[in-house]
Amino acid sequence: PIASPVHLDTQVTVIGGGQAGLATAFYLRRAGLTAGEDFVVLDAGDAPGGSWRHMWDGLRPFSPSTYSSLPGWMMPAWDDSRLGFPPRTHVVDYLTRYEERYDLHVRRPHRVTGVARADDDPEGRLLVETVGLTASARIVVSATGTWDRPFWPTYPGMRDFAGRQLHASQYRSPDGLGGQRVVVVGGGNSAAQILAEVSTVAETTWVTTRPPRYLPDDVDGRALFATARARIRALSEGRDHAGVAGLGDIVMVAGVRDARDRGALKAQPMFARLTPTGVAWADGTEQAADTVIWCTGFRPALSHLTGLHLHGGGGRVAVDGPSGTRAIREPRLYLVGYGDWVGPASATLAGVGQSARDTAREVIGRLGS
Ligand code: FAD
Repeated sequence: PIASPVHLDTQVTVIGGGQAGLATAFYLRRAGLTAGEDFVVLDAGDAPGGSWRHMWDGLRPFSPSTYSSLPGWMMPAWDDSRLGFPPRTHVVDYLTRYEERYDLHVRRPHRVTGVARADDDPEGRLLVETVGLTASARIVVSATGTWDRPFWPTYPGMRDFAGRQLHASQYRSPDGLGGQRVVVVGGGNSAAQILAEVSTVAETTWVTTRPPRYLPDDVDGRALFATARARIRALSEGRDHAGVAGLGDIVMVAGVRDARDRGALKAQPMFARLTPTGVAWADGTEQAADTVIWCTGFRPALSHLTGLHLHGGGGRVAVDGPSGTRAIREPRLYLVGYGDWVGPASATLAGVGQSARDTAREVIGRLGS
């Protein structure tokens, strides 16, 4: 028998049960809302941990455990001599226990396929659709991250390349790349960490559109949050922020330092095109390749919001409000955790808490009104 669709009436529906959704839920609950009744968190994942469950095995957060915490509960320290950078599994375990600790009743797997206005009343309810469950809500918080939207740039010859192409989001480990000629594209932390791993088994070429920027060895992710805030402040005050480090700067985690010491961390300018057997630069130089790994970042996963016609441009949504996360064209919708455009360092473990707190505070104020 086909189960009859579930209909939930909520004050707030949070879409996404990764760190951004959990941090928002933490503050809603702390403000007195009941998880699973006043608010519900719908998550497409089969298990807790957000995208941390899907990242490659060797990934090390660029910030030590004690500086990667969500509101309310410090991430348990990772007593590893290598600068306290925990493995990815430690983050998944923390997020799993965080959900339990605060009884956040995340409902999964429920992939939201659309958000619609129930009627023309601007104070009316929004309908959040998934297969088999509809939630109606006064307020919706979207916290769906970026993992579902890997960014693939387009270069001439991509279709003709006879080798394998994968995005960083599809990379799991260097297994299967032994003895190959591998080109790694991108100048951020993903590229540096994947290059560091792959260069231990394969002949690697690293290409970037601009020279990579490294943080000093003894400076880790903690500095990035401070500089991310400094950058946002400089931007908002119209000051020059070029010199201020950003989240794209490479943190010298142990694996990346080892690669540098081995001479594997040498970036070349970006190639102009791909050929059937490799890559080629404008001056005619060619490099044979078996695999190209595109570490070219992500875009916000907002396809479930298409029906609201928010048109923010650049794959984003125009936001404002005291929290800086309220959708201008749909004030019942908030966006949390997507990056600096919805709050400084909001796409990081240490940074999402402030944005979640400001959003929950504004939402609670609206519910009370
Ligand atoms: P996610 O973790 O992606 O969670 C979003 C959740 O929403 C997922 O569970 C997903 O299943 C769900 N979802 C998506 N669409 C829907 C839908 N339509 N309906 C229902 N549910 C949906 N940050 C750091 O602080 N330190 C680091 O070292 C660090 N390293 C990173 C390395 C990589 C490779 C990447 C990609 C990011 C890294 N980040 C790091 C940045 C950031 O912390 C992560 O991207 C983090 O996963 C963002 O959390 P989130 O909750 O916003 O999104």
